[in-house]
Amino acid sequence: MKCEYCQKKISGRSDKIFCDSYCKSAYHYDKKKLKEKTSFFKKVDNHLKTNRKILKHLNIEGHTTLRKEVLFNKGFNPKFFTHYWKNQNGDLYLFCYEYGFLSIKNNTTDKYLLVKWQDYMTPSIGIK
Ligand SMILES: [Zn+2]
Repeated sequence: MKCEYCQKKISGRSDKIFCDSYCKSAYHYDKKKLKEKTSFFKKVDNHLKTNRKILKHLNIEGHTTLRKEVLFNKGFNPKFFTHYWKNQNGDLYLFCYEYGFLSIKNNTTDKYLLVKWQDYMTPSIGIK
């Protein structure tokens, strides 16, 4: 038998999987940390995928304006995005992969302008 944590050979009882209590707690600590990391990654990943799905679904024509509630009601979360693009006027378009959104205020209604990623938006190296 080898210790699950340090890989040292364990002498004595054959049902032991750790050489001592230190290895045992270190092993469980690492496992817990790994699980936390994985679940955070998955959480962000899920938000991004959900956002992308919603944007794709609502942006059939490639360019459209919608009230924010329409997106929020479907579970859209604007805090999760993959990258951004700023136009010459300084408007900040946020993207979830190839689907983007820009927050606009139009009289009293908060809206999103939905766009699709275009080739000219691809940043050159050394983003400003
Ligand atoms: Zn050990």
